Amino acid sequence: MKKSGLSAVDLVPLGERMRMISAFRGTAAALIIIGWLVVPSTRGDVSLHTTVIVVLAYLAGTLLVEAVWRRTNHTARFLFGVIAMSDSIFLAWSSYGSAGLDTPLRYLVLLQLITVCLLASFRTGLKLAAFNAWLLIGACYIQESGVANVLGGQTITFGDATFRAVGIEVAVYFLVTLVTTSFAAINERELRRRRYDLEELAQFALRLEEVSKPEEVAEVLLAGVAEIYGCEPSTVVRRDEEGLLRSLAARGLGDDADASDEIGPILYTPELDAPVVARAMSEDQTLLVRRTNKTKDSVLGRFAVGANVAIIPLRGDHGVVVGALVAEQPVGRGTRIERRVLTMMERFASHGSLALENAYLLAEVRALAITDPLTGLANRRHLDNTLDRATAQAAKGHGTVSLMMIDIDHFKRLNDTYGHQTGDDILKLVARALESDLRAGDLAARYGGEEFSVVMPGASGAEVRAAAERIRQSIMRLPHEIDVTISVGVAWAPDHGTTRLELTKAADAALYDAKESGRNRVELAPLSDLTTVRRAS
Ligand code: GH3
Ligand code: MG
Ligand code: MG
Repeated sequence: MKKSGLSAVDLVPLGERMRMISAFRGTAAALIIIGWLVVPSTRGDVSLHTTVIVVLAYLAGTLLVEAVWRRTNHTARFLFGVIAMSDSIFLAWSSYGSAGLDTPLRYLVLLQLITVCLLASFRTGLKLAAFNAWLLIGACYIQESGVANVLGGQTITFGDATFRAVGIEVAVYFLVTLVTTSFAAINERELRRRRYDLEELAQFALRLEEVSKPEEVAEVLLAGVAEIYGCEPSTVVRRDEEGLLRSLAARGLGDDADASDEIGPILYTPELDAPVVARAMSEDQTLLVRRTNKTKDSVLGRFAVGANVAIIPLRGDHGVVVGALVAEQPVGRGTRIERRVLTMMERFASHGSLALENAYLLAEVRALAITDPLTGLANRRHLDNTLDRATAQAAKGHGTVSLMMIDIDHFKRLNDTYGHQTGDDILKLVARALESDLRAGDLAARYGGEEFSVVMPGASGAEVRAAAERIRQSIMRLPHEIDVTISVGVAWAPDHGTTRLELTKAADAALYDAKESGRNRVELAPLSDLTTVRRAS
């Protein structure tokens, strides 16, 4: 786990702490004057006049120091200590320094300690407790030595009673400091963790915005879980259309855990021995697993036996569970996954699954935008873009690109005879035949109606002719009771044109020739067409 790197200073900015100390000082000043007026035992032998003047002078002084502090753009951090120490001296004078050890105003010293302990660190609190203790002891000592009458005219000797009273007072200072800072530390730790968690969640959301593919989203989710909470190995599994759980991404599962691995069939059986990942998904709840059955559960089989494995369902549209985040807390990090870590992983999973669904949706929309719905081949838009790119490359002298224009012979007659449904079936069959006849890198597209195009980058005239011939013959062998034939026109760049339009025109002309010369044949665009085509365009 990364260190949070936050200090108390980050939790409550120094400026705010200064303001709170000022508020305490104002209250203390008011209590000192009210004390003088209402509780005679707080007066000592100091007059109201003197008390008011000292209090006001002190307030003015601290306001001045604070103004300087603000001027220095809050950089003089030591001023915080200086002001706290000045407060101690002021309170020492105005409480026991004026009215003796029994004055109720001495509780203000404790209040000041509590305030500083809550606003600063344990060390600052301890230092202040020590300083207050020295002030008290010092006041008694000065009084006893007769150097000055600081304890309200009382005659103090360091006899047993005084010693005990001062000792108890000092012990209370330290006790208050310890108790206050301990409680503050507990709250502070929790606050710090929450802030850390929130910041990490925000960072995670930002990282999710940078990715758009489902696998990338899964990687970001696993990276978050591993780097922030140390949970690794881990994997994101998702149910595909066939109901199989597939790993979209995996971390720390060893080389055999390919990201595209099929992890196993999903079983929605409620029995306890059903694969646990499937159970977490079907029950739609986070499951913690300590003992995994390697042979029974193909997902968990990859994780360490006896480890703390959390299985967190991932929800898709309408809250339907579509997958799971499976993450293991290393054995060395305690016997239980902390509740807080689990809650955070659930939040990560919730954000992640939303992003995952969006990524799938985006991929689907992108695919739809370039796919012909009837045949599943590339649509005209995709064909045009591919041809534009390929002919531009060919025009720059980077290789060649060939284009076949394919038209089903007498398709209208076929439609009229057997109906449009059969016509559609044949279009699909032709599409499948085209796909299976092509190499990787070639593109088969539906140009429109019963016309198809094939783009073959890098193919020579002879190669494309052979490929067209192969396609023509495989269409003749289609597993359909109706005989289907095609005519094909072939042209290639740069010989027959260097733009999509030029190339299409040449291939179209060749297709026309194929139709004219009896159909069910392949015709190459004649090279003499080059001049005609160029002139025409
Ligand atoms: P040719 O050999 O000269 O190409 O004759 P043809 O009948 O194939 O030529 P034509 O262009 O006259 O006819 C094309 C037919 O394809 C007309 C139209 O009804 C049919 N068609 C176009 N799109 C579809 C489709 O999506 N489904 C079906 N079933 N028929 C379609
Ligand atoms: Mg046609
Ligand atoms: Mg036709």
